[in-house]
Amino acid sequence: MDFDLSAEQEAFRGVVREFARTEVAPHAGAWDRDHTFPVDTVLAMGRLGLFGLPFPEEYGGSGADLTTLCVAIEEIARADQSMAVTLEAAVGLGANPIFRFGTDEQKARWLPGLCAGTALGAFGLTEPGAGSDAGATATTAVLDEGGDEWVINGEKCFITNSGTPITELVNVTARTGPGEISTIIVPAGTPGMEVLAPYRKMGWHASDTHGLVFTDCRVPAANLLGERGRGIAQFLAVLDEGRIALAAMALGLIEACLELSTTYARDRTAFGRPIGANQAVAFKCADLAVAAGAARLLTYRAAWLRDMGRPFRQEAAMAKLYTTEAAVAATREATQVFGGYGFMDEMPVSRFYRDAKVLEIGEGTSEIQRLVISRALGLPVS
Ligand SMILES: Cc1cc2nc3c(=O)[nH]c(=O)nc-3n(C[C@H](O)[C@H](O)[C@H](O)COP(=O)(O)OP(=O)(O)OC[C@H]3O[C@@H](n4cnc5c(N)ncnc54)[C@H](O)[C@@H]3O)c2cc1C
Repeated sequence: MDFDLSAEQEAFRGVVREFARTEVAPHAGAWDRDHTFPVDTVLAMGRLGLFGLPFPEEYGGSGADLTTLCVAIEEIARADQSMAVTLEAAVGLGANPIFRFGTDEQKARWLPGLCAGTALGAFGLTEPGAGSDAGATATTAVLDEGGDEWVINGEKCFITNSGTPITELVNVTARTGPGEISTIIVPAGTPGMEVLAPYRKMGWHASDTHGLVFTDCRVPAANLLGERGRGIAQFLAVLDEGRIALAAMALGLIEACLELSTTYARDRTAFGRPIGANQAVAFKCADLAVAAGAARLLTYRAAWLRDMGRPFRQEAAMAKLYTTEAAVAATREATQVFGGYGFMDEMPVSRFYRDAKVLEIGEGTSEIQRLVISRALGLPVS
């Protein structure tokens, strides 16, 4: 058994950590306060090669594995969850479906920009009436009379990266026939796709999230992604990998809470001694260290299984479930360690507390992860 990442991966971790420390962390509080999507920082992440990590060099990627992507996401997540989810969604939900299911023409057209991070992709699955129950998708796509174009009608909600200045496409799931859901690439700016005003959210303030409305939105028939009718299978496959990447985000958050809490517990004094001299505070830090360790093992084991080409659906669900619930608890405890200061906006733990909750919701709620795990145990749960 070998728990070490390669020397190359550790060196890469150092590069991303330094970038996050100097280019992300100092600004994250202001972006959060002002609800700013920092395009320049996203472009800088692109120049660092983060958006092309798991894709082949022919598209401008670096041909790395999912484990390496998780390292990058973990390090960005320690500084800022919004930038981490921008990266996670762009790679996992924007570019990955095109890489996995696209034609050669689609890959040649879209992947170079997505890999460079000069363009962002989004995934439009969730609808006002269909979230966990994605099979209830009501958006329709009908081929016009000549069979040349898809005509899309419907509505999507909560779509990450769908309205940034550098968004280039949305992979939209739509009903293309009775009992048939397909994925169609809709380029940004296509007439008939309206990007609604950004949501005001509890957290992830610097991440871009919009509702989308489709009204007779026409795209070429050739924009069908992969096989017609395979939309459900496609998003299930994409989400299995996405859940590991989301676990890496949660891991980064727990590690940040551990680091901040331990430092504060050493430095802050009350009753004439460091607050960390009280077991009540020290044990919170100890529990954070345990959570970080368990989260790291679950996350990287799932990533490793996937990179080895072995089944990993259950392990991905377990990693996502445990790490995200542990991250919510970690941010609550870290805020408690900081006392009143923890409730103040200028403290990162305050932002982390608000950012954490959605980890238990996005890319499959905790309840859906428990369903996946229960089924893998052979239970007849529905
Ligand atoms: C900030 C943000 C960004 C997002 N980004 C994207 C994106 O980029 N693309 C995208 O397509 N979606 C995105 N989503 C949507 C997200 O994936 C959904 O919100 C999530 O899947 C849950 O769907 P829902 O909100 O419709 O909740 P529902 O499905 O209505 O669930 C409500 C509650 O019921 C529970 N529940 C539902 N069914 C069951 C069941 N069978 N058993 C037990 N409990 C159940 C759920 O766990 C949850 O607690 C985003 C959401 C947020 C908040």
